[in-house]
Amino acid sequence: MKKHNFSAGPCILPAEVMQKAAEAVLELDGIGLSLIEISHRSKEFVAVMEKARSLALELLNLEGKGYQALYLQGGASLQFAMVAYNLLENKAGYLNTGTWSDKALKEANIIGSGIEVASSKDKNYNYIPKGYTIPEGLDYLHLTSNNTIFGTQIKEFPKSDAPLVCDMSSDIFSRQLDFSKFDLIYAGAQKNMGPAGTTLVIVKEDLLGKVSRKIPSMLNYKTHISKDSMFNTPAVFPVYVSMLTLQWLKDLGGIDAIEEVNEKKAKLIYSEIDLNPLFKGFAAKEDRSNMNATFSLTDEKLKDTFDAMWKEAGINGLNGHRSVGGYRASMYNALTLESVGVLVDVMSDLERKA
Ligand code: PMP
Repeated sequence: MKKHNFSAGPCILPAEVMQKAAEAVLELDGIGLSLIEISHRSKEFVAVMEKARSLALELLNLEGKGYQALYLQGGASLQFAMVAYNLLENKAGYLNTGTWSDKALKEANIIGSGIEVASSKDKNYNYIPKGYTIPEGLDYLHLTSNNTIFGTQIKEFPKSDAPLVCDMSSDIFSRQLDFSKFDLIYAGAQKNMGPAGTTLVIVKEDLLGKVSRKIPSMLNYKTHISKDSMFNTPAVFPVYVSMLTLQWLKDLGGIDAIEEVNEKKAKLIYSEIDLNPLFKGFAAKEDRSNMNATFSLTDEKLKDTFDAMWKEAGINGLNGHRSVGGYRASMYNALTLESVGVLVDVMSDLERKA
């Protein structure tokens, strides 16, 4: 029996996507060859890449608005450097909301001058800073929309004259936003899209070409745009699976439809965390993430019992990140409301037993 997979990433993908991906590894669409043994220049794969790129823009409602979608390698971590390499001339602002923003800022400071606009490090990143002042004249302002480790999520994005760059690795395609407010969005595939190995970058073309430094070809967004995201061999399997997942999402009714489910899942878990005296939430209530719910036991003596109970219920991936401890229930798009229900039942069973 398939487990209820609450893993933080790589993580659960839709069952029908897994099935189709497995079939394509054996044979792609009746062509007598596997997806992973054909040229990336074949008409079959070129069509996959085109579809994956156009579906991303379509779902984010960014078609015809001057954006390009790219599927690059090097993970979201390489984007920390690429963003700075391509956009940082004088100074850039970083909102430091967790380990990943912190790393992005450090990387920017290798390349130029990154300014920490505000930080929630003082409370181990359990909230999203608010009411801070954004300096004038930034080349861009960098945000992390969802903090995977700490379970916080930006609900209201800051208003800024500077171009907005956002790491959406752990909540892309999970909620409706006006994506045209962002000038560059990036996200590792391994949460809401596909297997690890490709990173989606959505970039507004008129943002590029403004820095004076020379940029190595592979690190230059313009190179990848000019070659339709095929400058070198792309990660064919992760791109293919991402395409399937985006098609699955579109067939489901797009971001509006999945957001409704995601809200139900989040409500269900957070109300249990709040009502059950054996549990307490980690993140500030108003900043709670709909993707990653972080919580702990109020009495650590119950740990062994609780751990045995959720494992017995077929739940996987519930342990918190080492920098927070406790538990983290990651509820990405492919995780069903039913799976969250199973976890909530275990939590209330514990209360009954304790
Ligand atoms: N940003 C966020 C928000 C993440 O959650 C992660 C990884 N989970 C990263 C960046 C780093 O991604 P990668 O491992 O693809 O470099």
